[in-house]
Amino acid sequence: MSSILNADLHCHSVVSDGTLTPEALAARARANGVELWSLTDHDEIGGQQRALAAARAQGLPYLTGTEISITFAGHTVHIVGLGFDAQDERMRQGLHATRGGRGARAEDMAASLAGVGIPGAYEGALRYAGNPELISRTHFARFLVETGVCRDTHEVFRRYLTEGKPGYVPHRWATLRDAVRWISDAGGLAVIAHPARYSFTPTEEYALFSEFKAHGGAAVEVVTGAHSAAEYLKYAEMAREFNLAASRGSDFHSPDESHTDLGALPYLPGALTPVWELLADRIQ
Ligand code: AMP
Ligand code: MN
Ligand code: MN
Ligand code: MN
Repeated sequence: MSSILNADLHCHSVVSDGTLTPEALAARARANGVELWSLTDHDEIGGQQRALAAARAQGLPYLTGTEISITFAGHTVHIVGLGFDAQDERMRQGLHATRGGRGARAEDMAASLAGVGIPGAYEGALRYAGNPELISRTHFARFLVETGVCRDTHEVFRRYLTEGKPGYVPHRWATLRDAVRWISDAGGLAVIAHPARYSFTPTEEYALFSEFKAHGGAAVEVVTGAHSAAEYLKYAEMAREFNLAASRGSDFHSPDESHTDLGALPYLPGALTPVWELLADRIQ
């Protein structure tokens, strides 16, 4: 399979912090010309059966997916898993444990927001969470827009939900090693999600790529909704340097919030190994 393929291997449904169902996403992917799709809900694979069934109904080739939250060098990093066995017990337990801290974290976030005059945020955010185990900052952001505190979710993140702002609560997620192992041992491939989104020093970023590779990580998202054209080139170069395959995904969450629609991305730059080439026998 060539790099000239409209693969979209990163998006979110109501099972995590997206606003569309797996079925609506499959229909939207198909309508937008996606040729290979994966639903990658945060720390959760509860939507995989629905996504696969919906993809089949649309005649859309499908890879299982998830996006695991990890902590590396004090930063939150996201590792996408593709093509794993969604029944794998260790993977299921690992994701369950990763989700486990979200409830207490959300209560701490709400207490912190109450301290700056924004009451009721826990209950408010929970109303937006399609999956109560997966309450995320995105659900708080939607609540703060609804109550008129901010105009849009990006403003909420800028003013409230990022490091150093009221409403931000530091959290320890899974380790890089565990996340890569859960995915690989379940027969899938691990992918560094949207690498340009992290505020690493060059040394830390080099460490992330080196350790990821050493643990058996396979690929890096080169073309994503979060990257500029210059960043496509930078991470294409990093993929070559670390002998990693390349992935492509919009990170679509919602028609109202996401800048990049499903499938609406440039193709992967040439001379890279597309991750889907390595996953040809896992496509359903
Ligand atoms: P959490 O896993 O609860 O920490 O939430 C992380 C999610 O928040 C990400 O997956 C994005 O969907 C969303 N997010 C993070 N930063 C921003 C931002 N600056 N603007 C909008 N959404 C963001
Ligand atoms: Mn998200
Ligand atoms: Mn992410
Ligand atoms: Mn994502």
